[in-house]
Amino acid sequence: MDRRSLLKILLAGLALPLPLVAQASQAVRRVRVVQEKDATRLLLDLDGPVVANSFSLESPPRLVLDLHRTVLDAPMGNLMLDGTPVQAIRSGTTPAGDLRLVLDLRQPDVRGELRTGDRNLELVLRGGPAKVVQRPSPKSGRDLLVVIDAGHGGKDPGAVGAKGEQEKLVALQIAALLAKRINAQKGYKARLTRSDDIFIPLRKRAELAQRLNADLFVSVHADAAPRLTASGASVFALSQGGASSSMARWMAERENGADAVGGGLTVKLKRDDPMVAGVLLDMSMNATISTSLDLGHQVLTRLGGVSGLHQARVEQAGFAVLKSAAVPSILVETGFISNAGDCRRLHDARHQRKVAEAIFAGIDGHFRQQPPVGSLLMALTQDSQA
Ligand SMILES: [Zn+2]
Repeated sequence: MDRRSLLKILLAGLALPLPLVAQASQAVRRVRVVQEKDATRLLLDLDGPVVANSFSLESPPRLVLDLHRTVLDAPMGNLMLDGTPVQAIRSGTTPAGDLRLVLDLRQPDVRGELRTGDRNLELVLRGGPAKVVQRPSPKSGRDLLVVIDAGHGGKDPGAVGAKGEQEKLVALQIAALLAKRINAQKGYKARLTRSDDIFIPLRKRAELAQRLNADLFVSVHADAAPRLTASGASVFALSQGGASSSMARWMAERENGADAVGGGLTVKLKRDDPMVAGVLLDMSMNATISTSLDLGHQVLTRLGGVSGLHQARVEQAGFAVLKSAAVPSILVETGFISNAGDCRRLHDARHQRKVAEAIFAGIDGHFRQQPPVGSLLMALTQDSQA
């Protein structure tokens, strides 16, 4: 006998008294616990058939499994018992030399049903008071997509200030800051209609939001007002009928003229316009506008503290760029480039960041009131309320 064999015998002798080694006729080679929908299975792999017997004990609740003339030759320290009615499994040897497994239960009234095979044994655990094991679920859900439209661009400069300042550049700067702010927020994603000084027809802008199935469309502007003294921010939503004020009508006509300036199609606001007609037929448009108005109100409230307001309520008119039937859409006039004070602030990087932050705060406030089903924001909001 070599030294290694001798060592094995000595180690075996340490693990079990020699008389039991002699008596044992079977060994458990593997122990598993499998959790199913309505049952927990304790599975034992054996060398051959064994005589086994199980019974339960009260206070504390336990299930006992005795295996006649069997030794345990399998690890049990790594069993996954989370989510099962079993708190712990202990093993020992009875005075008669049987292997005894004791299952400490988390709850009373768990029944054990024994099934034996040629080389395996199964103890099926059922019952016990229904107890839902709450595991922290990973936060998942889709990002809310906000399409941000920098007004005008390319051959359409938008409104022009006293010193030649161009609306298209200010709009792009603020839109880019807003996109950056949105992308930095968990649960949100932003797409810009343009990130360069290029011309895009109004309809194409709205179409992008529809094609991407966006949750929101925000068009950023800094227009001129008929009066040079007019200042402050305003927010507009689409109207299916007339404009809510002469200012709103004037603004919509101005904005809708962008395509004519750019040489594109002139947007007709007649009811026989195929897009308008389609939109009007779509009953969901009312809901979309109502959502746009709530969103607009949230944004307007936040902008008030940053830019001052030109209009205290969200105005409505037939803006062509807001005609995405299924996507809530607002047009934000961040200030008037025609007003000296506004124009100076609109070119100030710090003020631009504040404006972007205010618009985002309004968007976030709107979505947090009622997060869309399936969104990551919903998962995060529910968690903070729990
Ligand atoms: Zn504009």
